[in-house]
Amino acid sequence: MNYALDHTEIREEVRKLCARFPGEYWRRCDREQAYPAEFVAALTEAGYLGALIPEEFGGAELPIAAAAAILEEIHHAGCNAAACHAQMYTMGTVLRHGSDAQKDAYLPGIADGSIRLQAFGVTEPTSGTDTSALRTTARREGDRYIVNGQKIWTSRAEHSDLMLLLCRTTPRDQVEKRTDGLSVLLVDMREMPPGSLTIRPIRTMMNHATTEVFFDNMPVPASALVGEEGRGFRYILSGMNAERILISAECIGDAKWFIDRASAYAGERKVFGRPIGQNQGIQFPIAKAYSAMRAAELMLREAVRLYDLGENPGEEANMAKMLSADASWAAAEACLQTHGGFGFAEEYDIERKFREARLYQVAPISTNLILSYIAEHVLGMPRSY
Ligand SMILES: Cc1cc2nc3c(=O)[nH]c(=O)nc-3n(C[C@H](O)[C@H](O)[C@H](O)COP(=O)(O)OP(=O)(O)OC[C@H]3O[C@@H](n4cnc5c(N)ncnc54)[C@H](O)[C@@H]3O)c2cc1C
Repeated sequence: MNYALDHTEIREEVRKLCARFPGEYWRRCDREQAYPAEFVAALTEAGYLGALIPEEFGGAELPIAAAAAILEEIHHAGCNAAACHAQMYTMGTVLRHGSDAQKDAYLPGIADGSIRLQAFGVTEPTSGTDTSALRTTARREGDRYIVNGQKIWTSRAEHSDLMLLLCRTTPRDQVEKRTDGLSVLLVDMREMPPGSLTIRPIRTMMNHATTEVFFDNMPVPASALVGEEGRGFRYILSGMNAERILISAECIGDAKWFIDRASAYAGERKVFGRPIGQNQGIQFPIAKAYSAMRAAELMLREAVRLYDLGENPGEEANMAKMLSADASWAAAEACLQTHGGFGFAEEYDIERKFREARLYQVAPISTNLILSYIAEHVLGMPRSY
């Protein structure tokens, strides 16, 4: 299928790289719940994961449109960028709010891949979506913070050197707004004393390298504080547009993969002596998913355009993420149904991509929370929580 595309040269190069990692590679990783280290190394070596880092720190300083194109192509090729996409954008918090010393110490290494910053510790078991209720604390003691608590769903923590950690530095009952008193620490996990930081993998329905993380009197140098103490929630929020946009691009890539597969198979598979694609019962769900994907793609382009102009496209980025996650899920469903029984066979890759695509209804933000944002912040309806 031909799609109207931007950044065609980058896309072409990404497609070539992805061709070295066919379905067989991903099936093996999935079966063993193994980290796709070779794929991540290839992306790192090609410089794609440093796409958004300014040239002065050794990155490619590309617009977010290019980063979105890279991730979309990875997913359109049947690969999965979840093992490393956070290396692209987690550094944004450090870039925008970190000190010069932090930027000089870490960004060049993140750009060339020698330092991995792809662990993002926000979600906790008891607070869930209500971030301001998180319980992990960082207590200042001289020139360091002592961190205690627990995070859950901290993806890639085992494959990261640094973790961007959100924790409470002032108790909730001592701040005016519940989102005040939270701070961001850039934790160098390589330096933590044994026993103070424990990472336990969580097996999930897809291969995602996600973990739970425990902090037991973990000493973090005060120099790891990003920006001002107590303003961490705002810093985390400031990175959300980029994350929404890039995940949306991955969903668009997934949707294209499912639609390509489904429409090709519908033309090939003959039942009752004619292609199943002649039946409108087969055609229509694929055509509908395609239409939903194209509409979502337009919203994504609008979010990207505004982001690259330096505006704050919270509305567009959230809508793009929701619409493209819905489109990829509709495409996944149509693709599986079109393949009948074969859709369930591992060697077709559809069941694997199907499991992977489901995540984006829930993470990094669930559809309900996006709808609530649109209802309250865009349409001005009363707050529900
Ligand atoms: C594979 C995976 C990887 C992840 N990686 C990371 C990571 O790297 N770092 C990180 O910090 N987090 C990560 N997450 C966490 C993810 O962001 C959360 O799972 C997600 O935000 C939902 O939070 P929750 O699971 O606590 O659900 P809950 O907050 O417990 O919510 C449960 C359900 O209730 C709904 N709900 C809750 N409140 C409301 C409301 N007011 N109105 C309507 N509906 C509501 C939610 O939408 C959801 O469907 C990951 C999660 C998964 C599954």
